Amino acid sequence: MELKICHLYPDVLNLYGDRGNVLCMCQRLRWRGIDVAVTGVSVGEPLHAADHDLFFIGGGQDFEQEVLLEDLAGGKAAEIRAAVEDGLPFLAICGGYQMLGSYYKTWDGVQCDFIGALDLYTVGCRERMIGNVLFSCDDLDGGTVVGFENHSGKTYLGPSVRPLGRMISGHGNNGEDGGEGARYRNVFASYSHGCLLPKNPALCDRILTEALARKYGEARLEPLDDALELAAHDYMERRLTANK
Ligand code: GLN
Repeated sequence: MELKICHLYPDVLNLYGDRGNVLCMCQRLRWRGIDVAVTGVSVGEPLHAADHDLFFIGGGQDFEQEVLLEDLAGGKAAEIRAAVEDGLPFLAICGGYQMLGSYYKTWDGVQCDFIGALDLYTVGCRERMIGNVLFSCDDLDGGTVVGFENHSGKTYLGPSVRPLGRMISGHGNNGEDGGEGARYRNVFASYSHGCLLPKNPALCDRILTEALARKYGEARLEPLDDALELAAHDYMERRLTANK
């Protein structure tokens, strides 16, 4: 078995080591004897979604997102929309998550028309939402996810999209409705940066299982010894629930 991972804009969208999520996916596949290949596709390079089994998009500042608008409009946006509808799995973080939506209006009034693959939009506010977060996740049967957020955009989901999680601590999508991230078809999107998958191995395996099942019909990942990963997760969970 092999998974082909496409890392979109790896040189432009990589805040707080978001690329660590790709390393984590690769390593957890290799530990199970499953081959993995990663292809970066960046500005000016053609994207053929059908060549890949799983997509990753990291986060970026408003500036980087604005820089990518032209490249997206040159064909990638349509390709990504079709891939999402076709059930290809995606993990998108923060700025990458916002880009899957219809638009982002920055706090200083710049209108960025994005991919429109997910029924959601983002509006910037002056006060940034920053800090460690904890949320429960239906995809993990209510299990919790720890992460770190830093965004000015407040994201609002339309009726066809559900949140990835329910906030226990932190702001999440907008600091108002208690939702975090987005789920639509096989898209997983979150405001949590860098260490999302390394500290939440169950979420990593959930996404990998989706990709393997789509490619091979069915998939069951062998359990791994996640003692270290879970110690990191549990430590943050204890910190974030200590005063609740
Ligand atoms: N530019 C977006 C915001 O501030 C996303 C930032 C990020 O990816 N951390 O809302």
